[in-house]
Amino acid sequence: MKKYKHLFFDLDRTLWDFEKNSVKVLETIFEKRELDKVFPDFNTFVKIYKAHNEHLWDLYKLRKIKKEELRNERFLLTLKDFGVNDAILAEHMGDDYVELSPLQTILFPDTIAVLDNLKAKYQLYVITNGFVEVQYKKLKNSGLDSYFDRVITSEEAKASKPKPEIFHAALSAANAKKTESLMIGDDLENDILGAKKFGLDQVYFNPSKENHQEIVTFEISKLKELIEIL
Ligand SMILES: [Mg+2]
Repeated sequence: MKKYKHLFFDLDRTLWDFEKNSVKVLETIFEKRELDKVFPDFNTFVKIYKAHNEHLWDLYKLRKIKKEELRNERFLLTLKDFGVNDAILAEHMGDDYVELSPLQTILFPDTIAVLDNLKAKYQLYVITNGFVEVQYKKLKNSGLDSYFDRVITSEEAKASKPKPEIFHAALSAANAKKTESLMIGDDLENDILGAKKFGLDQVYFNPSKENHQEIVTFEISKLKELIEIL
């Protein structure tokens, strides 16, 4: 008996290799904006940027800042740490990032093969906390858009994972029942515990095999393990 009909995928860090793509974009920005004049080296720039970016994303999710602030502020704070208080440069870097990021196409190993296999048997969807204009471009440029019947973004659902509202919006859009639905994602808190609390079965994609204490429906470290589960 086939239990599931609807598979809901997270995008960043689950299918689209956010880390690798992000580093590629930061490399381009570092060169284009001659940031070797500001930072001792590229890795330092990335490390400081990531810390600020993560913190600002937390604030964005709590609705304490707007996305326009997040975009430039992460670069301005990074520059300021190295004595450069240049809002115009930060704005250019913010624009570069948003422009270049969705053009990147590095996916996790076997993404396309796994989706080809699953597409024949299930309805596939994306639930993402990213921005509408960025996420749709990423899907198209990396050849993923044709696999998914619907894409549900937090911006359109007006709620981010792990909030139940976004899972509710996704299931409504898919006309799917909870018992026939499965959430697949890399973020234990947002994707997995969010889905679990809402009443969905989950597949925790944990490529670095991080330890945790949560009880999840399934756990995998490679996408192709999905084929064995489903
Ligand atoms: Mg993710």
